[in-house]
Amino acid sequence: MGKRIGIIYCEKIQDTSCVGCAKCYKAVNEKTFAFEGEEDVEIVFKTGCGDCPGLVLPKLQLQMLVLEKLDVKVDEIYFATCIKKAHGIMNCPMNLEGITAKIEEVFKVPVKLGTHDY
Ligand code: SF4
Ligand code: SF4
Repeated sequence: MGKRIGIIYCEKIQDTSCVGCAKCYKAVNEKTFAFEGEEDVEIVFKTGCGDCPGLVLPKLQLQMLVLEKLDVKVDEIYFATCIKKAHGIMNCPMNLEGITAKIEEVFKVPVKLGTHDY
């Protein structure tokens, strides 16, 4: 079985300037950028950051419950490139470092930043 990943996106960018999430799907499906060299990658969820100021933890808690009920495991969680950009150019108020540490501590899943460079 391949790597099962979850993607968190910026609610201000997703489907607005980054329409249809085609970029992340392409990177995952073609194993490019963050997924270079992977044999198989499967997206098991994709959810929003909770909108500004980025209340992502309660959303993830619910997401993890849903996955548990469905008996679906997740190996890695990605803050997508939209969140990386929101931080770099949009003054995103989310405490990305703090939230990353919290997610890894609470859910025991590694968290990565950035999915592609399209
Ligand atoms: S970076 Fe990825 S998750 Fe974010 S909006 Fe674009 S395609 Fe969707
Ligand atoms: S700017 Fe940051 S907190 Fe606001 S919607 Fe985007 S990722 Fe979420």
